[in-house]
Amino acid sequence: MTSVGIVGAGISGLQLALRLQQLGVHATVHSGQDIDQLKAGRPRNFPARFGPTQRRERQLGVFDWDFADARVEHWAVTMRAGESPLAFTADLTPPSSVVDFRLYLPHLLAAFVDRGGDLVIGERPIDDIAAHHDLVVVANGSASMRRLFPADPARSPHTTPQRVLCSGLYFGIDEAVPHSLDLHFLPGAGEIFRIPFYSPAGRADVLAFEAIPGGPLEAAAHLDADADPGAFHRAVLHLVAEHAPALRERVDTKEFTLIAPGELAQGGITPVVRQGWARLDDGRYALAIGDAWITNDPLTAQGANLGSHSAFELAELIATGGGPFDERFCRTASDRLWDHARHVVDWSNAFLAEPPPHLTELFQHAAQDKRVADAFVSDFNDPVAMWETLSGPEGTASFLARVRTEVPSHGSPHGVPGHDS
Ligand SMILES: Cc1cc2nc3c(=O)[nH]c(=O)nc-3n(C[C@H](O)[C@H](O)[C@H](O)COP(=O)(O)OP(=O)(O)OC[C@H]3O[C@@H](n4cnc5c(N)ncnc54)[C@H](O)[C@@H]3O)c2cc1C
Repeated sequence: MTSVGIVGAGISGLQLALRLQQLGVHATVHSGQDIDQLKAGRPRNFPARFGPTQRRERQLGVFDWDFADARVEHWAVTMRAGESPLAFTADLTPPSSVVDFRLYLPHLLAAFVDRGGDLVIGERPIDDIAAHHDLVVVANGSASMRRLFPADPARSPHTTPQRVLCSGLYFGIDEAVPHSLDLHFLPGAGEIFRIPFYSPAGRADVLAFEAIPGGPLEAAAHLDADADPGAFHRAVLHLVAEHAPALRERVDTKEFTLIAPGELAQGGITPVVRQGWARLDDGRYALAIGDAWITNDPLTAQGANLGSHSAFELAELIATGGGPFDERFCRTASDRLWDHARHVVDWSNAFLAEPPPHLTELFQHAAQDKRVADAFVSDFNDPVAMWETLSGPEGTASFLARVRTEVPSHGSPHGVPGHDS
C-alpha cells in the first residue's frame, strides 16, 4: 500500500491527509505542534475560506462552522480616487467562512486522528521522514523547509515584501451591515480591511493594514502593542481616522482593544513561487504544496484556499497514479497544480501594483450597477475567473458584457461556467 508522509499540520497538509484517508491511501502527518499547541499562541494569519474550500471541507466531513458569526456575506468596498471616492456594496455568493486557525487546524487534525490517521509530533530531518514513505509532501512554510525549495525567479517577480502588515483581532468596532467586511483601497498607501472573524474569544473583528513600504500606513507595522497598549490603540485609531474616516466613526473608543495581549500579526511577506519539488540526499523526492511552495501576499485572500485546492488535486493524482513517486511523478504533479495556481499568483501580484485603468473602470461600473459589484466580489471564490477579468482591458470588457446580459445561475453569479477553485 502506498504510504505518504506529510510534513505540516496547516490547512494544506491536513486537507491532503484527510482526502488521502478518504481515498484509501495511507498518510502520516508529521507536525511540529500537537493539537494543544496548535490551539495556543499568537495568531499568524486571518484566513477567509471561500465557497470551494468549504465544499471540500463538507466532502471531508469537517465543516463545523455553519453559523452567522463565522460568515462574511457582504462587502463594502471603497477606492480613494481623486476628489470623490468610488464606493460600492456587494453580496458575496456563497459567503466566506472566517474561523481562526487556532480553532480550525486542531479540529481537522483531531478528525484525522479519530479516523485512524497516524500523527508524529516533533521536528525530524526530512531524509528520516522520507525513508519511511513512498512520497513526502512538504506542506509547512517554515524557514527550514523552504530551504529545500529554492525560489523560481521566472515565476517570482518580487524579491522584497510589497506590503508590510499590521493585522489584529479587536473588540469595539461596529458594522454598517451585519456580517459584512470593509475594504478600503488607498492607492499609494495600501489597503485597510475590517473583517468579521470567529476567534477563540468568539466574534471579533480583524483590523488589517496592508501598507506599501515607505508609505503613510507603514508606521502601523512597527507599533509595539506589548510595550504600551494604550499608545498602540491610539496610534491605530489615528491611522484609521486619517485614511478610512467612515470606519473610524464606527469604532467605540472606550471599547476598542485587541481581544487579548499579543493578538496581532505584523511584518512583511515576500510573494514567491518556489520550485515545486526537490531531490533529497538519498535520491528520494519531496513535493511542496501550500505556503511551502507558493507564498502570496494576503491581499487577495487566496493562500489557504489555494492550499486546499492543491491538496485535493494532489490527493487525486497520488490515489490514481499508483507510483512510482519519482522525479517524473513530481514534475508532472507540480505542473498540473501550477495550471490552477498560476491564476492565483498572477492575480495576487497584479493586485499589489497601482490599480490599472481597467480596474478603476470596473469599480466605476460596480458603483453604478450592483450586478457588477456582486459578480466581481463573488469571483473571489474563483481565482481563474477573476484573473480572466482582471488580466487586461479585454477581460474586463467581456466580464462587464457578460454580467449585464446573462441570467445569474446558481453558484456562478454572473453566469460563467464555474471553475473548480
Ligand atoms: C495576515 C494574513 C492573512 C491571511 N488571510 C488569508 C485569507 O483571507 N485567505 C486565505 O486563503 N489565505 C490567507 N492568508 C494566507 C494563509 O494563511 C496561508 O496561505 C495558509 O495558512 C498556508 O497554509 P499551509 O498549510 O500551506 O502552510 P502553513 O500555514 O505554513 O502551515 C504549516 C504549519 O504552520 C502551523 N500553523 C499555521 N497557521 C497556524 C495558526 N494560525 N495557528 C497555529 N499554527 C499554525 C501549523 O503547525 C502547520 O503545521 C493570510 C496570511 C496572513 C499572514
